[in-house]
Amino acid sequence: MITLEKKDIRKLSLDELKEFFVTQGDKAFRAQQVHEWLWKKSAKDFDQMTNLSIQTRQLLKDQFTINHIHVDKMQRSEDGTIKNAVKLFDGLIVESVLIPTKDRITACVSSQVGCSLDCKFCATARLKRMRNLSPDEIYDQVVAIKQQAELFFNRPLTNIVFMGMGEPLLNYTNVIAAIDKITSPEGLNMASKRITVSTVGIAKMIIKMADDGVKFNLAVSLHDAINETRSAIMPINETNSLEELAEALKYWYKKTKRKVTYEYVVWKGINDTEEHARALIKFCKHIPCKVNLIEYNPIDDGDFQQASDEAIHMYQRLLTQHGIIARIRKSRGKDIDAACGQLANKN
Ligand code: SAH
Repeated sequence: MITLEKKDIRKLSLDELKEFFVTQGDKAFRAQQVHEWLWKKSAKDFDQMTNLSIQTRQLLKDQFTINHIHVDKMQRSEDGTIKNAVKLFDGLIVESVLIPTKDRITACVSSQVGCSLDCKFCATARLKRMRNLSPDEIYDQVVAIKQQAELFFNRPLTNIVFMGMGEPLLNYTNVIAAIDKITSPEGLNMASKRITVSTVGIAKMIIKMADDGVKFNLAVSLHDAINETRSAIMPINETNSLEELAEALKYWYKKTKRKVTYEYVVWKGINDTEEHARALIKFCKHIPCKVNLIEYNPIDDGDFQQASDEAIHMYQRLLTQHGIIARIRKSRGKDIDAACGQLANKN
């Protein structure tokens, strides 16, 4: 006997769902109902779709699956941060994080299982890239955090950052499809300006995003503005130099008129001198931007150590003197390995 693998129903567009119901001799509006259950109400099971007849639910069960993610393990930090180990339909695991602050609740989501970029200071890099996440797997991470925000904080989810595992611009199509659903009234109806995509800085993809007219914010993990140093800690820089990155960012700004955020860690003996700070200032002159000086989260590796407070304040002082907004960002969720660069499926 041949058993046909059931199709994941969320791979179907609304139009394809309509076509399915019409071929079954049912009404097209049934598709609308199912679509609403799948996206707006995030149903994990056909039996939740209580406005469908038992027969219709059975028909769907016979033909389709819902490959919903499952939060396999949830950890809470002393500072309120929540880390989810999220199990995908094929058993692989990614992590996502809820970060509460006084006036925001931010979801930090993953875009790939592992990562191919090999940044020397990042724990995710050690996992290597296993696969891209599908649009619904990204969407589901946001939904899970939205529900946790309501359940544990009694507050709505306000922001989304693509700063979990993986490089979002190397899974561009799926990331865009997920954001489309997140911002659509048929999905979560969130504002694009509340979403930030963080990238290692792939120039040709930044140009593509600008051409596509995306409406979300862009953050670039810069970490150094001297090619030699940046290439040593972020191999992507070898084929994608700071000059190419700067050109792409100028194009981005010309098209979108939106400021870019640079993420920057200051490390002892690597970039903690004035020479590096001045190179950053020069890079910042390309387009309007702001700098987040982020705390280093150790990943059991002696090569990298957080610079002294003095060095970090030197950066902030020089940047500010040149009219560049620079904030020092404290890590969140460090005790549960939920902070930037610590996502590595330790459990
Ligand atoms: N690939 C994307 C998305 C990952 S975001 C990107 O590089 O932007 C994760 C952020 O955490 C990036 O800014 C990354 O540079 C930073 N990061 C990685 N490892 C870190 C660590 N050990 N401590 C602090 N920040 C780290």
